[in-house]
Amino acid sequence: MKRPYDALMPLPKAELHLHIEGTLEPELAFRLAERNGVRLPYADTEELRAAYRFEDLQSFLDLYYELMAVLRTERDFADLADAYLARAAAQGVRHAEIFFDPQAHLARGVAMDTVVEGLWRALGSSERNHGVSTRLIMCFLRDESAESALRTLEAARSHLDRITGVGLDSAEVGHPPVKFRAVYEAAAALGLRRVAHAGEEGPPEYIAEALDVLGAERIDHGLRCLEDPALVERLVRERIPLTLCPLSNVRLRAVDALTEHPLPALLDAGLMCTVNSDDPAYFGGYVGDTFDAVREALGLTEDRLRELARNSFLASFLEDDEERRGRYLAEVDAYTFE
Ligand SMILES: [Zn+2]
Repeated sequence: MKRPYDALMPLPKAELHLHIEGTLEPELAFRLAERNGVRLPYADTEELRAAYRFEDLQSFLDLYYELMAVLRTERDFADLADAYLARAAAQGVRHAEIFFDPQAHLARGVAMDTVVEGLWRALGSSERNHGVSTRLIMCFLRDESAESALRTLEAARSHLDRITGVGLDSAEVGHPPVKFRAVYEAAAALGLRRVAHAGEEGPPEYIAEALDVLGAERIDHGLRCLEDPALVERLVRERIPLTLCPLSNVRLRAVDALTEHPLPALLDAGLMCTVNSDDPAYFGGYVGDTFDAVREALGLTEDRLRELARNSFLASFLEDDEERRGRYLAEVDAYTFE
C-alpha cells in the first residue's frame, strides 16, 4: 500500500488489539509446516493466500484454527511473534499489547510452557531488536466453557511474570460476559489487568456487562455501543478505551464498507478510540496500513490521526512505566505529517 504522508517516518503508535495467531502469513505457515512435517491442504503459498480471501466469520475461523497446526515448538511461536514485531515496527508501532489464545494450542497437545516461553523469546528481546516495548495478554475463547477458562488460568499460574492481563475473544453471540465472571474474579485476585471483546457482533448489553461483571478496563471493538446513547455517555464519562479494528469489521461484515465505518461518529461522541489490526494477515493490513486506509476512506484530519495515536498510548497498560508513556506521547506530539 502506498504511504504518501509518512514515507520517511510513520506516525508513532501503540497496538492494543492484535491476536498473534492472526499474524501468520502464508509464507511463514509453509515454512513452519515444512520444518515440523505438517501437511497443509494447499499446493503453495499462492493457493493458501487465495484461501485467506474468505467470505464470513466461520470460514475465517475454520482457516485460522486449521493453520495453527503448524505452530508446535517454542521456536515456532518465537518466529511468529518476531515476524509480527518487525512488521509492526516498520509501520510506527512503538508499543504492542499482544493477545494469544492458549486454549487453541493446549487442545492440540502444545503445552502452555511452549507457547508462553516461545512468545517471550521474541517479546523479551523486542525492544533491543525492534524498538517495540510489549505486554502479553492471555485470551479465553468464549465459545469454550467457563471451567475450561479456569483451567487455562490455572495452567498459566507459573507464567504470570510474563502475562500482564486477560481477555475474552472468539465467537461472541450467545456467550455473554457473565459466563466468565469467576475466571475474571480469579484473574483480578492475581493482579492481572482485564479487557474483553464486546459489542462487535454482540449487543450493547454485552459491553455494559463486561464493565460491570468482568471489570474490563478496555473494550475490544465495542462499536455497537452507538445503539445505546446512555452507554455511550457512560463510556465517555469513565474514559473507557475502545480498541477498534476497522479492516476486520469490513472483512467480517460488521460494517458494509470502510467508508461507512462509524469511527468518525465514535470520535465525535467523545469516545476514547484506538485503531488496531486484529488479525492482520487475514484482514488486509497491519496497523499502519489501517491508519492509511481509514484516513483515506473516512477523510480523517491530521488532528484526528494524532488523537488516535495519543489515545493508543493513553489506553495502554504502561502504568508501571509512566516515564516511557510520556516519551511516546512526546514523539506523537512532535510528529510532522509529510
Ligand atoms: Zn479481536
